[in-house]
Amino acid sequence: MRVAVGVDLGGTKTAGGVVDLHGEVVHHVVRPTPAAAGPHAVLGTLCDVAADLVAWARGRGAELVGCGAGVAGVIDPSGVVTHATGALPGWAGTDVATALASATGLPVRVVNDVHALALGEVRSGAAAGEPSALVVAVGTGIGGAYVRDGDVVVGRTGTAGSIGHVPVGGGEARPCPCGGVDHLEAHASGPAIVARFREQGGEARRLEDVVAAARAGSALARGALSEAGATIGRALAGTMNLLDPHVVVLGGGVVHAGPILLDAVRREVVAHTLPGPRSVPVLPAAGLRHGNVIGAASLVTARGRVG
Ligand SMILES: [Zn+2]
Repeated sequence: MRVAVGVDLGGTKTAGGVVDLHGEVVHHVVRPTPAAAGPHAVLGTLCDVAADLVAWARGRGAELVGCGAGVAGVIDPSGVVTHATGALPGWAGTDVATALASATGLPVRVVNDVHALALGEVRSGAAAGEPSALVVAVGTGIGGAYVRDGDVVVGRTGTAGSIGHVPVGGGEARPCPCGGVDHLEAHASGPAIVARFREQGGEARRLEDVVAAARAGSALARGALSEAGATIGRALAGTMNLLDPHVVVLGGGVVHAGPILLDAVRREVVAHTLPGPRSVPVLPAAGLRHGNVIGAASLVTARGRVG
């Protein structure tokens, strides 16, 4: 049996799996990410998980083709973290690829976690079998990825797909976590939706509270969700005109808002796309149980990915 190791490092948990060449997870582990203990502890946990998976696979006589990783932050094409969010203090500057290669003895490729999620959706999820896909995840932040011919486009610095930092105007100077203002993430992420709802007199602590209020009939909550959906839809439409993908997949916590938000997204997509991309389906993500791990493994299982 030929297999790959896929690992997924997030702010709260580190997951990994042994994945066969059909994209099936044959063995899976999860450990807490020791974020507060600093970058050395975080990297150590990631390497331990990968090494344990290698040992598990070798113990069963499997042939290992490589190790793929999806990790939080902006990852340059050589596998070094160049920027990180507040969830992983001190994480920027970490050379993840070299550490994983040393821990596993395998060819390694490292991408951002949203890039890995997108690869999972293309490998086994909502965009399975599509020649190209634009995948956007809206949760605490807004991330994106463009996958073409089974591989994710990372760009010169690993930043490609960052649709959350497309300027959307509005003139309100809403601060974005990146330091900019009036970017998509500042207007339509989970926390931005909650903030907007509260400013208008609603009571909510998390996005789930806004969704629950909308389901219970609150016009204010429905308005906050559809306004965010419309803003996402306009940014998506511009990106669809630019890339002309075969399918668009929308994931993250906002998918749970259901039709209220998705209908607004689709309405604005239709209003602002050119005739070609206008008919492209905008689908909710499959939300695979091990999607990031499957996506990370596909970095080294598809043709010509490493080396
Ligand atoms: Zn930004």
